[in-house]
Amino acid sequence: MLITVWILGDQLLAQHPALAAAEKLAGSRAQVRVLLVQSAARARKLPYQRKKLVLLFSAMRHYAQALGQQGYHVEYLIAPNFTVALQEHCATHFPDQLLTMAAADENGRLFQHTLAQRLNLPVTVLPNTQFLIGQHNPFPNLPPVKRVVQEQFYRAMRRHFGVLMEGAEPAGGAWNYDRLNRQPLPAHLNPPDPPSFAPDAITQEVMAEVAQIPGLGSVAGFDLAVTRAQAQAAFADFLAQRLPNFGTYEDAMTQRHATLYHSLLSPYLNLGLLEPLELIRAAEQAYYAGQAPLNAVEGFVRQILGWREYMAWQYGRFGAAMKKMNAWGAERPLPEFFWTGETEMNCLRHAIGRALQSGYTHHIERLMLLSNFALLAGLHPAAVNDWFQAAYIDAYEWVMLPNVIGMGLNADGGLTATKPYIASANYIHKMSDYCGSCRFNRKKRHGADACPFNTLYWNFLLTHEARLRANPRLGQNVLGLRHLDDAGRQLVRQQAASFLAHLSRNR
Ligand code: FAD
Ligand code: SF4
Repeated sequence: MLITVWILGDQLLAQHPALAAAEKLAGSRAQVRVLLVQSAARARKLPYQRKKLVLLFSAMRHYAQALGQQGYHVEYLIAPNFTVALQEHCATHFPDQLLTMAAADENGRLFQHTLAQRLNLPVTVLPNTQFLIGQHNPFPNLPPVKRVVQEQFYRAMRRHFGVLMEGAEPAGGAWNYDRLNRQPLPAHLNPPDPPSFAPDAITQEVMAEVAQIPGLGSVAGFDLAVTRAQAQAAFADFLAQRLPNFGTYEDAMTQRHATLYHSLLSPYLNLGLLEPLELIRAAEQAYYAGQAPLNAVEGFVRQILGWREYMAWQYGRFGAAMKKMNAWGAERPLPEFFWTGETEMNCLRHAIGRALQSGYTHHIERLMLLSNFALLAGLHPAAVNDWFQAAYIDAYEWVMLPNVIGMGLNADGGLTATKPYIASANYIHKMSDYCGSCRFNRKKRHGADACPFNTLYWNFLLTHEARLRANPRLGQNVLGLRHLDDAGRQLVRQQAASFLAHLSRNR
């Protein structure tokens, strides 16, 4: 019996379940054909970050090569789309059956379920093993209207997987150390750069091809890991060099450094080159070996076992329908400067510039600069989502929708986060060094040099006052309106209207 295993580009797992299943079914590795497909239509769906395409295609080709070295017959097809590639493969190899693992994204899964008919072949879609929620769903059979907050979810996952637990209690006696993890970066600290991986012949070939594809940014300077061994080296470097400071400066932003003490591991996790539990266990071990403090290790574990799994779980509940959510009725198109980085707002110029150039900004820049601005300015959620999806090296629908539509824009009506993440220049100044060299005045909310974050923040509070007042977590923000008299309110509204009109003109 001849079995084909179709491995998706973001499922480059060291132990792919369909390979083991196929070998068992076929009786020998010689009877298994492995197929990887690079779809031209998929690569052109949006103007993608070129470094993301290089990462994806180079990692796929290295993975194909590694499987070949393990004795598999591997076919790597570059085709107009997935259907053409699969049909071509079947017409050449005549498999008796096709095995594949369920895609992380809803569209991918729907497509997989049409394959038997398209290929006229028995097709088995195996359960996805890339997420820990595949092993344990802490809240099964919940009605869609029922909200589970991330903290509840995270604690249930920690208990189930026994991570940083001492008996029934969390290590150190507390579930989180957020109060220690909100420091700005001191001027004397210079975070180490993440490791850089020189492109080999395969990567260079991909870079030359991707340079011809319409997209964002440039292939030049590509230095990401493209194999599991390199991704493991990147993780080892993080453990040794950056994990100890990860917690303390988790929320800090600086124009001096893009990654600070963050791990830059999401691109590898999302491709399957690294798996969540191996990272969690290694970080936990670093704590017990005295190599990193608890606030750092708990913070890192929370990101993966808490936030990443929670987001995958939320996507599982609400799916692609999230893209249509627009709880704040935001209709403004994306301003042109999101595609060029040309804005006088120093914080946004840096964050957008980094996203366009490297495909990466760390979490707080995504949340408290980019999506904060988008929410305050009333940018259309689906347009914001498409921008993130195009610009970032780690963007995939399952993680993008709950983060952008849910956490970043609160467009899901609070299904993901209990409050909209909104802030004025006050917060940005406290956590960064952006405001000192900005042409805007961080202390002003109206006037020619007023910081747009201030104008939009107060305008947002005024516009949505009644609704925000009803949210107990935002009471403090709304209370600030007491200090704004009628004339002050009028000035904010006028300034915001003029800024937003200008924003819309400059699309
Ligand atoms: P670290 O800060 O070092 O965190 C460690 C790991 O935890 C990350 O590698 C990531 O796998 C995981 N993680 C942390 N927070 C989240 C989260 N909220 N959701 C999912 N995983 C998380 N993450 C993506 O993987 N792809 C995206 O396209 C993406 N888009 C985002 C868009 C917005 C508006 C926001 C607010 C967040 C987004 N995130 C996304 C989540 C998070 O910002 C990134 O995972 C993180 O910045 C990646 O950098 P890092 O590896 O250095 O993370
Ligand atoms: Fe950003 Fe305003 Fe600070 Fe300028 S003053 S860097 S626009 S927050």
